[in-house]
Amino acid sequence: MRQKLASFFYGRYGSDKLNLLLIVLYFILEIAALFIPNLIAKLVLYAISLVLFFLVIFRMLSRNIAKRSAENAVYLRLTKGIREWFLLRRNKWKYRKTHIYRTCPSCKATIRLKRLPGEHTCVCPRCGTKFTVKIKK
Ligand SMILES: [Zn+2]
Repeated sequence: MRQKLASFFYGRYGSDKLNLLLIVLYFILEIAALFIPNLIAKLVLYAISLVLFFLVIFRMLSRNIAKRSAENAVYLRLTKGIREWFLLRRNKWKYRKTHIYRTCPSCKATIRLKRLPGEHTCVCPRCGTKFTVKIKK
């Protein structure tokens, strides 16, 4: 039995970030459908969530790994800006006691600096612009 299960899953794609998004969307639609009184709208939401459910299963069990990877790569490329925005917020919070974040006045790049009180001259690593940074204690 275990051997059969292993051979069934051998060569299958599995899960990725796109599948994770689809699973989250599935649960959001299922929960939203619970609170919608309109029967037709409720049925539409259930239908869409059912499609998402089967799409997740299909992608996980797919043997066409190249195509599934390409889909995930497109998803990751399209959401790069959003994911980086959240990552920056997370890092700002995580390193808030040891570092500060400043924006380069020339190229608008976000630069992480050590939290050393005083006035410093900073050189942007991207464009090389020098600017003054004052850090309060
Ligand atoms: Zn710059």
